[in-house]
Amino acid sequence: VPKADLLLLDAEQVVTVDDGRPGPLRGPAQSNVHAIERGGVAILEGKIVDVGPSEDIRRRYPDARARLLPGRTLLPGFVDSHTHPVFATMRENEFAMRCRGATYEEILAAGGGILASARALREMPEETLLSLLLGRLRGMLAHGTTAAEAKSGYGLTVESEVRSLRVVQAAAKAQPVTLVATLLGAHALPQEYRDDRDAYVQQVADEMIPAVAKAGLARFCDVFVEKGAFTVEEGRRILRAGLAHGLLPKVHADQLRDGGGALLAAEVGALSAEHLGATGAEGIAALAKAGVVAVLLPSSCLFLNLHFRPNARAMITAGVPVAIATDFNPGSSPTESLGLAASLACATLGMTPEEAIVGITRNGAAACGLDEEHGRIARGRRANLVVLGAPSYTFLPYRMGTNLVREVYVDGAVVVTS
Ligand SMILES: [Zn+2]
Repeated sequence: VPKADLLLLDAEQVVTVDDGRPGPLRGPAQSNVHAIERGGVAILEGKIVDVGPSEDIRRRYPDARARLLPGRTLLPGFVDSHTHPVFATMRENEFAMRCRGATYEEILAAGGGILASARALREMPEETLLSLLLGRLRGMLAHGTTAAEAKSGYGLTVESEVRSLRVVQAAAKAQPVTLVATLLGAHALPQEYRDDRDAYVQQVADEMIPAVAKAGLARFCDVFVEKGAFTVEEGRRILRAGLAHGLLPKVHADQLRDGGGALLAAEVGALSAEHLGATGAEGIAALAKAGVVAVLLPSSCLFLNLHFRPNARAMITAGVPVAIATDFNPGSSPTESLGLAASLACATLGMTPEEAIVGITRNGAAACGLDEEHGRIARGRRANLVVLGAPSYTFLPYRMGTNLVREVYVDGAVVVTS
């Protein structure tokens, strides 16, 4: 008799997102979540050892403890492929000012924006930053996120960026959410370099990247390519320096205008290009050809009330694998809910529920290099699972803003119940 120490049985659907092949789902394949009706899984020592119709699982493991999930849907733990979770303070006052009609200049004058975040982070002790991050990760876990990419980028000095990534590393060891770290030293030009941007780019390339790589603190290097942030040339220089030190490229690209960010991502062989709000046909074709994952962030588009949206339909049609993430950060997307991001992907980007669910699971995992262990329910994988309090996966994007997550399992152990 095969062995299992826990069975999850009688779920209305088990959404496996698995077809047995490696990598993300793209094109028409992104609209298949590979759901099993009245399904179940068997878990042994934290790993999934079997998936299938509940009656088969029940028969194969007659002695194992079983938890029954009638009326519920079982999904892979969600993977948030774009977050900025290391920061000192929320920016609720800036939000309130914006609601009352304040301009960006007025907000900056009142001490808002990324540069204000940088000042606050530089002054904050490491253990305070860590406890804030741990609190945010508990919030993410409660919304079903069991793995996330975590970017630095609110320090903007060598010392404070290294410190931010050390905090990510410490948090990764201290709680259940798997974290993969990204250096985003080129998030904004720090105030003290306003008149000498070249010197900051050089510092990122020649000091920050080597320091982070030497300490083994990041897997990826990201750069914000945008008018008002960094140029394509500066981005190329930073990403090449990252590659030379073993940090794989990611790009914040074309958020507000088509400025060649997607083309740069394709050129340097980035794993992902993120935002892509204004990317046109040429950029989309380049992403498809280079196999770059598009990470779309519909909650920040909504929160900033942007009048344009990433062209998700054109990306999927072109064969670009699309992931959906929260962009969790204090300025433009203060939400940790991937369920909400999936709702907005459907309601505002024209994606289907299936495409959105693939976007927050398997394709999210592919976008941050976690595809081998995360993002699907399949034999041999970690038993990271979400129990949804609803009878089908369609409820996840449909019940906008409502947290339907009832239980979360990491390595076969319950880490959230509600
Ligand atoms: Zn971002």
